[in-house]
Amino acid sequence: MIHDVVIVGAGPVGLFLACELRLAGLSVLVLEQAENPCAPLKRLPFGLRGLSAPTLEAFHRRGLLDALVALQPANQRADGKSAVPAPHWAQHSQRAGGHFAGIQFYEDNIDASKWPFRLPSPAGTRMAVEMESLETLLAARADAAGVEIRRGVGVEHFEQTDDEVTVRAGGEIFRARWLVGCDGGRSSVRKVGGFEFAGTDAEFTGYSIEVEIADADKLRVGRTYTATGMYTYAAPGIVTIADFDGGAFHRTQLVTLEHAQTVLRRVSGTDVTLTALHLASTWTDRARQATAYRRGRVLLAGDAAHTHSPLGGQGLNLGFGDALNLGWKLAATIRGDAPAGLLDSYFSERHPIGAQILDWSRAQVALMRPSPSTRALEAIIRDLIDTRDGTTYFAERVSGVSLRYELGGSHALVGRSVPDFELADGTRTGELLRAGTGLLLDFDSRSSLAELAARWPARIRYVGADAKQRLGLSAVLVRPDGFVAWACDEAPNLDEAAQAAARWFGEPNA
Ligand SMILES: Cc1cc2nc3c(=O)[nH]c(=O)nc-3n(C[C@H](O)[C@H](O)[C@H](O)COP(=O)(O)OP(=O)(O)OC[C@H]3O[C@@H](n4cnc5c(N)ncnc54)[C@H](O)[C@@H]3O)c2cc1C
Repeated sequence: MIHDVVIVGAGPVGLFLACELRLAGLSVLVLEQAENPCAPLKRLPFGLRGLSAPTLEAFHRRGLLDALVALQPANQRADGKSAVPAPHWAQHSQRAGGHFAGIQFYEDNIDASKWPFRLPSPAGTRMAVEMESLETLLAARADAAGVEIRRGVGVEHFEQTDDEVTVRAGGEIFRARWLVGCDGGRSSVRKVGGFEFAGTDAEFTGYSIEVEIADADKLRVGRTYTATGMYTYAAPGIVTIADFDGGAFHRTQLVTLEHAQTVLRRVSGTDVTLTALHLASTWTDRARQATAYRRGRVLLAGDAAHTHSPLGGQGLNLGFGDALNLGWKLAATIRGDAPAGLLDSYFSERHPIGAQILDWSRAQVALMRPSPSTRALEAIIRDLIDTRDGTTYFAERVSGVSLRYELGGSHALVGRSVPDFELADGTRTGELLRAGTGLLLDFDSRSSLAELAARWPARIRYVGADAKQRLGLSAVLVRPDGFVAWACDEAPNLDEAAQAAARWFGEPNA
């Protein structure tokens, strides 16, 4: 049997992509090396993942938002009570809007009038969920949709011809028309496929440890910069440390209680005593990105395509963005109705977004370096973030609200996420995108636009209805990923609309 697509890795990105491809009717097999999807590091406290606006919108557009909201740990909800301490950035009286290198900004200081194309939406701009619950949700969705998931099957090797890819995994051979590596930062698919992974090396080893502390009053709650690094502490025993050792410790040895105490003492400049170590992991700020996301019939998405420090919490959101961008393009390519260059636009759209995130993470590392000049720079950045314009800028970068693909086009909305318009009957744009097709939203219900959409049956859905708030728009053509391909404020230029439709949806029916 040959599958349309084999995905390597049942992490969140692989599972989301599998759902996207099944939605388009493809046969999908996911190969996952781990037997058991559950692991302590995927649960609280270290398994908490912050999700930003593009991810929440993607879940909204696929009918998964309510299930996602239900996953929120109790300590993330306004009325929640939990045995697990809230992360240090949530332990503030003001409503936190996010942070940059630990410098907090607050929602009240955001000037949302700078975001003219955003409407209030159930999706919102931020949420935090546990990685394990998120993967469980996506695995259940994939399973219900008919995706085959094989666990305990690690991919070791593959070969490709012009027509297919042969994958060797767990002593078995699998055949696919396309292979996608969603197998994380140490991706075998990337290595076997000969993808170049370019970027910068680590400056520090990061530690996430859950410990018992004899004299916790010696540590400061929240994030503290010191002469030798940075630590964050959330009572009673959650500690994160950045030890500027050039990344030397990471993956060389296991973290022992003694080692954790030595590093924490050195970085905190205290003689704090740790009495028990319950959980520990290390990571670094290594920032690398594949210089191509496709070689022949092999593609990369998620951490397999880019890795950076988890500080700032962007990697998963970046990976979901990849999956949402790739799914419909790969499906159209396999169906045979993709316009020329559609699959290449996966790289040209997503690589710059990944590069921006890597730089965002590097900039945060630069502000964490243990030196007096860095602390001086931090004080200036802190002042700037505190201004209304500063908060708004950092909020739009952190929440992903500023995300825009360079698609050309004359309207300022082109390349941006479509606003979640609420139509007269209460339906929202997000709900209209659930089938994973394109959408032509016509607030003035013109027969000319209905006829135009009818030339791409099954690819573009036409909806003629007024919206409660139009934001000055008259019609919008939306890609299956929810990004705007074409828009007009007044009478539509039909040639322009048809060109945009052909650019993303291929040749119209005769
Ligand atoms: C402490 C920490 C906090 C973080 N916080 C955030 C946050 O708040 N927000 C955010 O956006 N991001 C955050 N991240 C980053 C985020 O977790 C990753 O970017 C995300 O998990 C990447 O998803 P993925 O599916 O691409 O890869 P992974 O989650 O790494 O999944 C890859 C899967 O592939 C499997 N696999 C690997 N090799 C093979 C093989 N050869 N064959 C078969 N299967 C294989 C693995 O077992 C795994 O299941 C954080 C990361 C860490 C470490």
